[in-house]
Amino acid sequence: MPELPEVENLRLGLMRKIVGQKIKSVKVLAPKLVSGSGNIRASSRVKAAEFIGGITGKVIEGIERRAKNLIFRFKNGGLLLVHLKMSGQFVYREGKKMVEGGHPIELSRSELPNKHTHIIFELSRGTLYYNDIRTFGYLLYFKNQSALDKTGHFKDVGPEPLSREFTLEYFIGALKSKKSKLKSILLGQSVVAGLGNIYADEACFEAGVRPTRIASSLRVEEAERLYFAIKRILKRAIETGGSSVATYMLLDESRGNYAREHKVYGRGGEPCVNCGKKLKSITLNGRTTVFCVGCQR
Ligand SMILES: [Zn+2]
Repeated sequence: MPELPEVENLRLGLMRKIVGQKIKSVKVLAPKLVSGSGNIRASSRVKAAEFIGGITGKVIEGIERRAKNLIFRFKNGGLLLVHLKMSGQFVYREGKKMVEGGHPIELSRSELPNKHTHIIFELSRGTLYYNDIRTFGYLLYFKNQSALDKTGHFKDVGPEPLSREFTLEYFIGALKSKKSKLKSILLGQSVVAGLGNIYADEACFEAGVRPTRIASSLRVEEAERLYFAIKRILKRAIETGGSSVATYMLLDESRGNYAREHKVYGRGGEPCVNCGKKLKSITLNGRTTVFCVGCQR
């Protein structure tokens, strides 16, 4: 699943290409993707018709990111909320130029649309494809901000880690009140937004704390180290274009470079870069979690 740095890079890439363009027409091949946001959801033809009616003819004014969601804003009102979930991808093609971002789907390089293409946006200058292998992603149209607010979509999403709202005092206080394991708290989005499996493990390693610790047990110094590790790692990952790890590709056709800097993610069983001990790999909340028993307490 693309995490904050990957979604942010996708946003920046799409901003450069499609802002100011008009959506001339939309084809929804899989109504399920525009019918709701749960992993299990029925296809709704009514929702698909609303989606098509809502965005056809609209001019894309800007694209924002909140946690791992993208929000496309249209001139004269209306917005589109997109979550790529496990395996969603955007490909924009304009003449011979083709750019993509999201889960890498090799087929999209040779064939567009392809069997994973579910929504096709014809824009003034090119075509934007939404492709998704597992179809857990969603694209939801809202006629205005208050319609989105009413759904409570972001009500349990904590502050953006690179924003001013995410202060050290806040983070220390939030961890103190949580009795679950640190990794679950970081993945849970309510204390801090945007972290997934990669950056949660990397941040815990950099902070020297085990992801299996109960969040409230962290001493102030440990919480402080984790706070700065989260900010530093995410900033660095955004700068380098995020992580590819066979799940993410950038819009300018390059793969994210941050994967080369992973110290624990995907390295279970390999030696720790600090102490040389074999990195431990466990399953926590159904997710592979890697840490060093020597460097992390
Ligand atoms: Zn170590």
